[in-house]
Amino acid sequence: MLTEAEAREHVLSRVTPGGVETLGLVESLGRHAAAQVLAHVALPGFDNSQVDGYALRAADAPLGASLDVADEQPAGADRHLILPAGNAIRIFTGAPLPTNADAVIMQEDVTRTGDSIVINDSVSPGEHIRRTGSDLCRGQVLIRPGERLTATLIGLLATQGIASLPVHRLPSVGVLSTGDELIPPGQPLEPGQLYNSNGPMLAAMLASLGLRDIQTHHCRDDLDATIQALDSLAGTRDVIIISGGVSVGDHDHIKPALQALGLSPELWRVKIKPGKPFLFVHREQPRPLYVFGLPGNPVSSFVTYQLFVRPALLKLMGAADHALPAVEAELTATVDNDGSRPHFMRGRYADGRFSPAGAQQSHALYGLSQCNALLRVEAGATIAAGTKVVVHPF
Ligand code: AMP
Ligand code: MG
Repeated sequence: MLTEAEAREHVLSRVTPGGVETLGLVESLGRHAAAQVLAHVALPGFDNSQVDGYALRAADAPLGASLDVADEQPAGADRHLILPAGNAIRIFTGAPLPTNADAVIMQEDVTRTGDSIVINDSVSPGEHIRRTGSDLCRGQVLIRPGERLTATLIGLLATQGIASLPVHRLPSVGVLSTGDELIPPGQPLEPGQLYNSNGPMLAAMLASLGLRDIQTHHCRDDLDATIQALDSLAGTRDVIIISGGVSVGDHDHIKPALQALGLSPELWRVKIKPGKPFLFVHREQPRPLYVFGLPGNPVSSFVTYQLFVRPALLKLMGAADHALPAVEAELTATVDNDGSRPHFMRGRYADGRFSPAGAQQSHALYGLSQCNALLRVEAGATIAAGTKVVVHPF
């Protein structure tokens, strides 16, 4: 049985980032850049005033001095004004600084009478001036390949006059929930039945990753039906995520169905709890296809998604960073694991502390829903309260 790290390495080694398309700037939100972008416009692009006031030479403006207002420079077209010695020029926020001016005094700090002003506050050289390139220089890296486009990065690219950029394509995903006991919402529950919760949970996790083309399907515990469902998904989807049916019970048909389609699992069973029966297979021809089989218990589905599927999807989406999120936290209660596999314990992470929370069995979805982080506890280990641990927020 592979360890968690070996299984993830194996999966990631098979995944190659998806193709590239050019998208409009705002459309690219949440995508991953396919190329580096360098600044060709400095920020600010020219010396300009930070306030509404008067441009002057600090040396001409001791406290109490009176200066004539020679001209006016609003924001917009640069009038290329030259400040005469001993004068001031009316200026507004964002307007280009006249030649020879070395400071701007705020309008609140002068008394204006007719065409002259009296200085009521001391002025030092450079005051209230935004210098060219003081925020960003030309040639600086704005975006690295594989970086995720956030709203602030989109704003930054807009300052460069960029209208579109190359980003990685999003894979299409099919979510296949298996099980005779599962029914969709809106139907009354018969004895022995339960509502399909993995399908919606997986679809929601995929959507929160930024994926858009997500189809959800259900399949009965029947070999032929399973083969048919997988065959049709394999023909149309880039990624298939299966929940349930990956164990060795008489009603678990995923492995034989995949085998019948020439998709023999290259990875099956990982040394973790919950989530041991995790399965992975990929195919390169006629086009790349990635299949993840997650155990049906809701917490097992969730944990294996976080540990293996999410990093793989991020890599497929072109993300440079697909590492598991990890932060240090102080454990608030002693925990132990008397099992033979590392246990991913669920808990709450807040203010630098991690507190185990909720029922810890693999079916306990309510317990999971109250949590926001996983702690890996090694087999046979006891970790004392107060220990600094690394947890994985989700
Ligand atoms: P399986 O992995 O198919 O053996 O399923 C393990 C457990 O998970 C069983 O109790 C199933 O009823 C439950 N289960 C499987 N699929 C789902 C699902 N989509 N939603 C909720 N529970 C499920
Ligand atoms: Mg089942």
